[in-house]
This record gives sequence, structure tokens and C-alpha cells, in this order.
Amino acid sequence: MDTRTRTEAGILIEGLSKRYGTGASAVDALKDVNMRVAPGEVVGLIGPSGSGKTTLLKCLGAITTPTRGRMTLGGEVIFDQGWKIRDLTALRRDRIGFVFQAPYLIPFLDVTDNVALLPMLAGQPDAHARARALELLQALDVAHRAKALPSELSGGEQQRVSIARALANRPPVILADEPTAPLDSERALAVMRILNQMALQYQTAIIVVTHDEKIIPTFKRLYNIRDGQTIEEAGRGLALA
Ligand code: ADP
Ligand code: MG
Repeated sequence: MDTRTRTEAGILIEGLSKRYGTGASAVDALKDVNMRVAPGEVVGLIGPSGSGKTTLLKCLGAITTPTRGRMTLGGEVIFDQGWKIRDLTALRRDRIGFVFQAPYLIPFLDVTDNVALLPMLAGQPDAHARARALELLQALDVAHRAKALPSELSGGEQQRVSIARALANRPPVILADEPTAPLDSERALAVMRILNQMALQYQTAIIVVTHDEKIIPTFKRLYNIRDGQTIEEAGRGLALA
């Protein structure tokens, strides 16, 4: 397999542009962005406020439509001067896991059902979805909390459950927006260790948007975005084991 084929199985962004509005008030939020994340890789996306980070995640997450360019997710072209996939809800549900700054767990469902919910909604038999949820909770070291309600968990445990939920549909791609912002240094590094382990174990391509100085040294590769243009940088790749 050549590098290009392997790369295309993760995330590939080519010549992506996004303009908000028209005429004199138009804002070019992304200008010809190129980016790639291989399966099993965790890549950082950093940049000042207003540089285009959220717009890029929204394009990848099929939440906003790019103006121009091409995006490949999990080996399939999803956008090439227009959406190639008609059912964007199914695209978001089946191919992309989202991790946010806050865990957003459903308060009246136990931990297992929080993780199993999306696969159940996608049509998986309940028993199958719950077995898969338990397997992920084990991998994330929170299986002992499987029957607890979110309110009974610590902040770190809740964030691990939200990562399990993001992995539940075995998405080829995870988009994480400031996943460690509210956590102390030790827990923030623990979340990064987990994301790196999960990326390798499930061959997921992960993008982490962050300005958290605690975790920036952990990335092997980073994209720095400024005024809608990305520059690829080598990171320190701090060992997390
Ligand atoms: P970041 O997440 O890095 O702070 P954003 O992607 O939110 O950056 O914003 C990039 C640029 O696009 C900014 O100039 C912002 O004002 C503009 N922008 C973002 N969303 C919209 C929108 N819905 N309509 C118009 N302009 C927007
Ligand atoms: Mg933002």
C-alpha cells in the first residue's frame, strides 16, 4: 500500500475554502487548506481565536458546507465541490465521533446506555450495542461505573465516557474540540494518552483542536492555522505511557 492510499483512509483535505456571506461583508474563514491525518494518528490543530479552527471542524463534521475543495473521510470522498453523500445525518452518525469540552452526557441514562444510545438509534440490536459499550468502557477503565448515572461520576470519568461514546459507532474519524480544557494537567495528559491508544487500537484518525499548553507537547504533528491558512509543524511527540 502506498502512502497516499493509507492517508486517504483517514482524513484528507485538499484546497478547502469557506467563505461566509457575500459582497463587501464576506469573510474568507478558510483559504485553500490542505491537511491529512492517517488512521491511528492524533493530530493537533492550534491557532488564535478567529483563525478558522471551528469552521474547519464544522466542514469536516458536515455541519457547514465548504465553498470549494475536497474532503475524504475513511477512504471515501464526502465532498468534492459539493456533498457526495446525500444523507449528512447518517454521515455524522456513522463516520464521525465528536468529543467536546463538556461531556454532554444524558443525565437520566446510565453510563452504558449513554455509550450505546447512538448505535441503538442507528439500528443495532440493544444487546449488541450494550456489549460493545461495555468493551469500550473496559478499554477506557470506567467499566466499574457502567451502571452509574453521569452525576455520580468524577469529571475525568465523565470525559472518558464521552470518549467511549465517540468511539461507539467505530467511526474512522474523531473530531475533538478542546477536550481537555477543564481538566488539570494529570487528567488532561490521561485523556491524550487514551485518545492515542484508541487511535492505534481502532485505527481512528483524530483531530484535536486545542490551545491547551499542557497537551500541545504530546502531538507528533500539528497544524497551525492563521487567517484561514494552515501550516504543518512537527511537534515534540512527548511520550505518554
Ligand atoms: P476559531 O474557531 O479559530 O476561533 P472560527 O472558525 O470560529 O475561528 O472563525 C473564523 C472566521 O470566520 C472569523 O473571522 C469569524 O468571525 C468568521 N465566522 C465564523 N462563523 C461565522 C458565521 N457563521 N458567519 C460569518 N462569519 C463567521
Ligand atoms: Mg472556535
